[in-house]
Amino acid sequence: MKDFDLEQLKILMNEAPAMRRELRRNQFLDRQELKQLQDSAFARMVRHAYHNVPLYRRKYDEAGVDVTTIRTVADAARLPVLEKDELIDGFPEDTLAAGYTLDELTTAITGGSSGKTLRVAYSAQTMRKRVMTAYRIYDMMMGGYEPHHVQTYVYTGKYPLESLPDGSYQLKHIWTLDPLPAAREKLLASKPHMLTLYPSRLEDIRRTLSPQDVEQLRTNLIVINVKSEMSTQAQRDEWADFFGVPVLDEYGSEEMAGTVAAQCPEKGYHIWEDIAVVEVVDERGVPLPDGQTGDLVATCLYNWAMPIIRYRQGDIAALHPEDDACSCGRSMRMLKSFEGRKNSSFTLPSGRFLSSGYLLDVGYTRLMEYGDALNSWSLVQKTRDLVAFECIPGPGMTDAIREQIRREISEFLFNEVAVEVDLVDSLRITNRGKRNQIISLVS
Ligand SMILES: [Zn+2]
Repeated sequence: MKDFDLEQLKILMNEAPAMRRELRRNQFLDRQELKQLQDSAFARMVRHAYHNVPLYRRKYDEAGVDVTTIRTVADAARLPVLEKDELIDGFPEDTLAAGYTLDELTTAITGGSSGKTLRVAYSAQTMRKRVMTAYRIYDMMMGGYEPHHVQTYVYTGKYPLESLPDGSYQLKHIWTLDPLPAAREKLLASKPHMLTLYPSRLEDIRRTLSPQDVEQLRTNLIVINVKSEMSTQAQRDEWADFFGVPVLDEYGSEEMAGTVAAQCPEKGYHIWEDIAVVEVVDERGVPLPDGQTGDLVATCLYNWAMPIIRYRQGDIAALHPEDDACSCGRSMRMLKSFEGRKNSSFTLPSGRFLSSGYLLDVGYTRLMEYGDALNSWSLVQKTRDLVAFECIPGPGMTDAIREQIRREISEFLFNEVAVEVDLVDSLRITNRGKRNQIISLVS
């Protein structure tokens, strides 16, 4: 993602106080007010998408939906679900709204289905709101996010903003693939108030920490925010005991322009209903009763450049009944359970656990550079010590590239397993008829 330029930052600084007040206030609106706000934003986004985005115009016409009759979130069920492949195949002509051109937008790359890369585009205005919605999470998790607070995040890419121009709200970055001793050192030196990272990386790093290290961290540390892959409440509770601070989960995606839901200090998993609509549906896109587990589909209420409506995230979840209140006082409804990605994870011979989130993220970041050598791929753990990278090659594939890919993958699997690169004509299909990108055949 490209960095914020000076002009953007100036606008951000001007907008920030009011935007932040509004976002803060929305969390505590009464249910009726909040639903009205969400309903009208949803209806507006649907009409905008229908009139300005070829993909939606076609989809909704084919489904015979008259968008003027979509007035509230309760009408959403009449709209067809949007699949990842449609976003991949349609980008950019079919998925960008009229009036936006790609070179003035910020884009992010994320894992698609069947190994294709998905690109998502945001306007400058959306990017600024994205920053402010992130601040709201920190506000919630830390009980107040202050200008002097430092956030250290362990990730494959850097955020487009390292601090505000006056040096406040600093973000410090540690590369996900840094060797553990280096990661430990950087972590201690950064003196974070908030630590943000993959749960699997937290598990790795904590093994390197002595009781003195933890003591040192605790002089500043207020909260640990885990994201981008599945962790259980039991795991988070255990980490919270170890570090002596709350460990809270956040759920979001590039498609949704950032955050969708996050845990408050009372561990309620609140959906940000003023910027997102979350539904839990069956295979056909029909909403399931509260409490029942199904596919999470989500609508982003603020990315006008590339609308995302009823999008199947590829995650499994269940909703709390709407009238279940959280003791924190926030009125935003909650996820009851969140089972995360349908992809598998790997366990390496040493017992090291690699989540699908890690494998997808590192896989994409590392393999992006091969451009036209790779069409699509999946990563298959065949036995405990053998992983196959199965790919449909593109025109640029050569023996040298094949070997280079093999080495890259060995490296991000910590050289613990043999890796083979298999060129194939088609990718595996699961017994449910789906293509998964990360597949483990090890039971
Ligand atoms: Zn709460």
